[in-house]
Amino acid sequence: MLAYTYVEKGQFELIEKPVPELIDSHDAVVRVTLSSICTSDLHIKHGSVPRAVPGITVGHEMVGVVEKVGPDVVSVSPGDRVTVNVETFCGECFFCRHGYVNNCTSPEGGWALGCRIDGGQAEYVRVPFADQGLNLIPDNVSDEQALFVGDILATGFWAARISEISEDDTVLIIGAGPTGLCTLQCVMLKKPKCIIVCEKSSERIRFVNEHYAGVLTVTPEKCREFVLENSRHGGADVVLEVAGGEDTFRLAWECARPNAVVTIVALYAHPQLLPLPDMYGKNLTFKTGGVDGCDCAEILRLISEGRIDTTSLITHRFSLDRIAEAYRIFETKSDGVIKIAVSPPRKSSENLSSTV
Ligand SMILES: [Zn+2]
Ligand SMILES: [Zn+2]
Repeated sequence: MLAYTYVEKGQFELIEKPVPELIDSHDAVVRVTLSSICTSDLHIKHGSVPRAVPGITVGHEMVGVVEKVGPDVVSVSPGDRVTVNVETFCGECFFCRHGYVNNCTSPEGGWALGCRIDGGQAEYVRVPFADQGLNLIPDNVSDEQALFVGDILATGFWAARISEISEDDTVLIIGAGPTGLCTLQCVMLKKPKCIIVCEKSSERIRFVNEHYAGVLTVTPEKCREFVLENSRHGGADVVLEVAGGEDTFRLAWECARPNAVVTIVALYAHPQLLPLPDMYGKNLTFKTGGVDGCDCAEILRLISEGRIDTTSLITHRFSLDRIAEAYRIFETKSDGVIKIAVSPPRKSSENLSSTV
């Protein structure tokens, strides 16, 4: 099969690999029907994910059809349409039992797919702990609608869930990239009084204005002033920082009112300064960390009910044999790209016929 592979720092290549087999009794093998490219894939390409293993197939956002399951898999069967979770988690350790699946203590736990083990920018993928890592896609939900459930939509949903948003709140979201837009949709479900999106790209501000009626937009330069004008207690009641830019952490806590919740979703390239003397008396609550992607069934239900729809984020579509071109567009943020859907290769490789 074809698999987009991390060869070495700076180099991904589409190469031939054998179709994956079941290794553990809890594994499933999934035929990938749609995958996507995430900024984290670029982090691997640029060598900023030290635990990424050269030679692995990249890609951790995908949906597909179950081909095979190990004898201990109970929640899915061959033929089922499924979303694949970016996180691998055992479901049994202390952290998993408390919903902190990002901190699963299994050796395979955490972000493994497309990082430490073969991922989904390929024709097939092996998914460990399939009962936890796969969720059934309802019949009325398309592959494109379900594509982001296991990664950026899970992240947005988790961020909105932990941010203690009430209907009286002014919520500031910093960053309108793909994860910021998923976060926005999940924040909208909480029906806060006012949502402000801060974004530096005029193209993305236009996208928010076109797709999300009633959401206010502002550039970083005018953000503090604008938040003051549009909130009642000297700042936003809740801030979600999804940008991870040079100054966006500072912007996040500066725009927060006293006793606000500031949720840091962003992954920073550099350490950030927490200037406690400057924020003394603001009594902020910071929430940080990686997504606990354990709400995928609920997200799929919300999509099925028409309450979340991220298909407008898919601005480009490519088949797997043209994935290098898709990466070029995604990496250079050209042509108004937000997200790219990657479908199976138009011409499948020959060795497939003997395995399925
Ligand atoms: Zn990702
Ligand atoms: Zn666990």
